[in-house]
Amino acid sequence: MSLAEAILSDHVFSVFRSTWRILDRYQSHIRDVNVNSSDDMAQNPIAASLEILAEPVSGIRSSGGREAARNPTLWHRLVEVIRGSIRTGRTSKPVADLSYPLSSPQECADAHLEEIEEAFGKSSRGSNQAALLKKLAGWWMTSFGNELDAEWDGSTDRWRESLRSIRGVNHETADRLLLWVAEKPAWPVSRASIRIACRHGWIEPTAEYDEWQSLFVRGCDSNVDALRALSSRFDEIGRTHCGPKPKCEGCPLAPLLPSGGPREMFD
Ligand code: SF4
Repeated sequence: MSLAEAILSDHVFSVFRSTWRILDRYQSHIRDVNVNSSDDMAQNPIAASLEILAEPVSGIRSSGGREAARNPTLWHRLVEVIRGSIRTGRTSKPVADLSYPLSSPQECADAHLEEIEEAFGKSSRGSNQAALLKKLAGWWMTSFGNELDAEWDGSTDRWRESLRSIRGVNHETADRLLLWVAEKPAWPVSRASIRIACRHGWIEPTAEYDEWQSLFVRGCDSNVDALRALSSRFDEIGRTHCGPKPKCEGCPLAPLLPSGGPREMFD
């Protein structure tokens, strides 16, 4: 073999060897990416849900932003939460325009129940909402006075305990108020989120309340915007797909289903 042929063959071999190394590195990178993403999904299904719902979530986020911009005070936001429009995303009229007796905690606390019912609209649901709002108005006056914007200083647990001490405020309502009004990292454990999380096998239906909080709050890195967006989106999916009978076809969360499909649950 001539020197040139030897150099050439050596060169060809070296090019081949480098190419092989690059390909090998590329393949192991692809393997790592696949392993990591499925690991991530298994380890943090909440982050995976956020990622899947990213586009629709950004819409919900901006709608949440509109709610926040339109509702100039935290008191108004509380009225929206109790009226259910923050949860459902449906608003009949801007709450900022609400007049007596919803416009301030003082008026609401002093008003007759019938006046608040009238403002909410006559229905059995409206009656329950009115009674709850009146109690919350009394609680607000004791906690913050007649301030429309209040500083919720202190830990999430402290405020959770305080809200839960009000008769009629259940865990879900307390956490919804913490998330939307107090801007604290909390997860309202709604029927929709129970169905979704249990059917996907992320948590057992028998899990303790703290485990639910941990799953979602840690899953969202305690980020209030992410928690709000995901909570709104889960409630929406609960209405459109994940009701008493799951309609998985076309559901945005279908890619996260366990291999055997949704788990059975009794609710
Ligand atoms: S994929 Fe099925 S189980 Fe999962 S959220 Fe959608 S409807 Fe519910």
